[in-house]
Parts: sequence; structure tokens; C-alpha cells
Amino acid sequence: LPQVHIIGGGLAGSEAAWQLAQAGVQVRLSEMRGGGDMTPAHQTDGLAEMVCSNSFRSDDGDRNAVGLLHREMRALGSLIMREADKAKVPAGSALAVDRDIFSEGVTRALMEHPNVEIVRERIDTLPAEGLTIVATGPLTAMTLAGSIGAATGLESLAFFDAIAPIIHRDSIDMDICWMASRWDKVGPEGDGKDYINCPMNREQYAAFHQGLLDGEKTEFKQWEKDTPYFEGCMPIEVMAARGLDTLRFGPMKPVGLDDPRTGRWPHAVVQLRQDNALGTLWNMVGFQTKLKHGAQIALFRTIPGLEKAEFARLGGLHRNTFIQSPKLLDNELRLKAAPHIRFAGQITGCEGYVESSAVGLLAGLYAAAELAGRKISSPPSTTALGALLGHITGGAEVENYQPMNVNFGLFPPMDDVRKKQRKEAMTSRAGAALAEWIKQTPIKTPA
Ligand code: FAD
Repeated sequence: LPQVHIIGGGLAGSEAAWQLAQAGVQVRLSEMRGGGDMTPAHQTDGLAEMVCSNSFRSDDGDRNAVGLLHREMRALGSLIMREADKAKVPAGSALAVDRDIFSEGVTRALMEHPNVEIVRERIDTLPAEGLTIVATGPLTAMTLAGSIGAATGLESLAFFDAIAPIIHRDSIDMDICWMASRWDKVGPEGDGKDYINCPMNREQYAAFHQGLLDGEKTEFKQWEKDTPYFEGCMPIEVMAARGLDTLRFGPMKPVGLDDPRTGRWPHAVVQLRQDNALGTLWNMVGFQTKLKHGAQIALFRTIPGLEKAEFARLGGLHRNTFIQSPKLLDNELRLKAAPHIRFAGQITGCEGYVESSAVGLLAGLYAAAELAGRKISSPPSTTALGALLGHITGGAEVENYQPMNVNFGLFPPMDDVRKKQRKEAMTSRAGAALAEWIKQTPIKTPA
């Protein structure tokens, strides 16, 4: 009998299966591809198929948050990293792979593992009992999504990722922008100064509006159009196309926002809202968009105060099934309402191949420890694994929880270190913290 049932053999499910199997746990891995089902993005039956780019992004563990995550996963015996390293193709400082060799390597390692049974089947309901890891990804089959929605409350399950760009706070020019809430309104936790406001005059607004109309966009795919719940997240350029002033009556409304430099309301305002508990990341309110990334950077840097903006992530709109993890999951990725079920991968609201695999790794470690009656603490928040887990299970503002790549904005800040040296300081702090955590934590690191 399997001791843990993993649903979904993508990046996260494969990594979770490996961690469990290597810890001596019997795993049943249910993957619907190869059993008569397919997602709209996958092309093969292979486990851990990379659906789009063939890159695991930067491999620079000294200066880059995702490179640091690679390093930490390698230290914990990750199968995804092992096979990625084997399938590597030249790509400068990035880790890019031959996707077929990579997927075949992962599939073979799991097929040959005596503790893993791979079953080609679609699962339509959350199991009522037995330790389970749900790793069905952004394109979770609709029947199972319905069952997850029933368990979490439908309002806690998103089908779309309507992402507004997120900006590093320290790249915003506060000589131009100012903090205020509309009419200085005081919220439950705020002080009437909750938003960062970027003012625009008539000419700036007109040029910006034209830029939205002219900017190069990504087309909607048919299956994106067919997915329900779309109306709630209209792209900003679609709204702009309705008329010159539509945005001034919508997300760029200036009323009740006195610019301290003029004492008057600007012609239009772009508002940024705090995105993480640390206050290092701020999102552009209402700016979900299908503009291409290059076009976004060029256009959004024309906004007064954002001329030097550094984006932690750019806007987008995709089919993406994910749950409101900060509300629903405990710090071991268990569903609070049904703790025999863990979630892993992109469905938890992380974003990206590496991040999904990393959360699969953690889910596997936690499930193995639970079976063995051992307790493992969360990785320190100063590590990439800990920062990512903190975003998922607690750090993000719940009202506005949106998927996110790992980035230095999720780490505790190091304001005392000069900006130029900060990334290196953060990765070296992480290295020491992870080594200490591994030493003190009763995990079996797979060989
Ligand atoms: P997946 O890798 O998607 O794995 C989930 C698995 O569960 C799939 O194999 C699926 O067949 C299976 N499954 C689903 N429902 C069921 C069910 N009911 N029963 C059994 N099995 C089921 N990230 C990047 O870093 N770079 C990119 O270029 C990139 N491009 C993307 C493009 C698209 C179109 C999408 C949708 C996402 C993209 N992502 C990208 C984001 C994300 O990192 C990947 O989707 C990643 O594969 C997520 O890993 P996962 O394990 O959570 O899900």
C-alpha cells in the first residue's frame, strides 16, 4: 500500500516523489497524461515536462535569488536539479536544458525507483483519507479543481492569474510620489497613508493612454478565453480602449488624492499597494495586462516616479489554477481543514519551474518527516527556500495573494549593507543559515 499518494507528475510532484522515495516511503504517483488525458499546454507523456521555455533561469547562486534556490535544492538532493544539470545546454550564466533529455531523466529515475509506483490516471476528487500531495499545477483538470474548490471554498480558488506588475520599493522615486489613501481614509490597519501615488498631468496621461493602445500585446489563446471567471480581471489596455477617460474613472482615478507638491488632485494617478509584509514590494493597482514584457518596462517607466523602477515581476494574465495558500495552508503546506492533504507546486501560488519544484521538495520532506513522527522546522526566512515558503504560507497580503517568482524582495531586508553588495550579502547569509538548518534538522538528505 502506498504511504503517500501524489497527484500530478509535473515538476513539483516528481520532486516530492523523489524526496519521499529516497527517505524510504512508498509513493503512488498519479499522472493523467499517458492515461488518455492532456493539458492544453503539455505535449508529451513525460514526467516533469517543461511546457514553455527550456530555462531554469539564472544559475548564479551568489547574486540571483533563483540561482540561490538552485543551490539550496542541490544541497537537499533534488532530482529536478540533478537531471537539469545532466541535460544542460549552453546558455551563459543561465541553466537551460534539453527538455526531452531532462524529462526522460526524471521519468526514468522515478520509474526505476523501487519505492515509486507511477499510475497513469486522472484523479477527480480529493482523497478522503491517506497522506496526499496535490501537485496538479496551473492547468489542474477541471473536475479535480471543482473538488478542491469544494474543500477550500470557491472564492479561495483562482482560475486566472491576473498579475499587476510588482515593483521593488527602493527603486521608486519618493521625491515625486507620495504616500496617501484616497480622502486620507484610515483602513482597519492603515493610517490613511497606505498607497504610493504617482501623479500624472494631462499630457503625461494622454501619452500614457496612447502607449497602452499602441504597445505590443500577447494574444489570448482559445482555452484562455474559454475558462470561466474571466470578467473579473480585465487587462488595463482593454479598459483603455473603451475611451480616453475610462481609466481616470477606474484604476487611475485621482479624486481625493491631494498631491502635497501642488495641494491639488493630479489629472490621473497610478497607485501602488503594499504587496508583502516586509514592505519591500509594491504592486500597481489594477494594472493586469497582456502587454509584452519589454513594452511594459518601457511604458511603465514613463510614469512619474517610476523612471528607474525595478520590477520584481511584470504583469500578465494566464490560465492558472491556484489556491489562497496564506489563508488555507499551515506552515508545512497542509490544508488546515483537511491536514492529510498537502499542496505543492504552482497550485500553491508560487510561479516558475524552479519554485514549483522547490515547493514539491519541501512538501516531500514534510510528508516524510510526518510519517516518521519527526518534526522539522521551516527553513530560515533568510534562505531562498524559507523566503518562498514564507510567501506561500504567511507573508503575502491575503486579500491580494498572487503567484510570484522567488526574488530578494521576499527576504528580510539588509538595509545596513550598501546596495551594490546587498545581493552577495543576502546569498552568503542564506548559505550559512541553510547549512545550520540542515545540521539541526532531522531530514534524510537523499544521496
Ligand atoms: P505541472 O508541471 O503542470 O504538473 C502538473 C501535473 O499534474 C501535470 O503533469 C498534469 O498533467 C497533472 N494533472 C493535472 N490534473 C490532474 C489530475 N486531476 N489527475 C492527475 N494528474 C493531473 N514557468 C517557467 O519557469 N518558465 C516558463 O517558461 C513557463 N511557462 C509556462 C507556460 C504555460 C502555458 C503555463 C501554464 C505555465 C508556465 N510556467 C512556466 C509556470 C510553471 O512553472 C509551470 O507550469 C510548472 O510546470 C509548474 O509545475 P507544477 O509541478 O506545479 O505543475
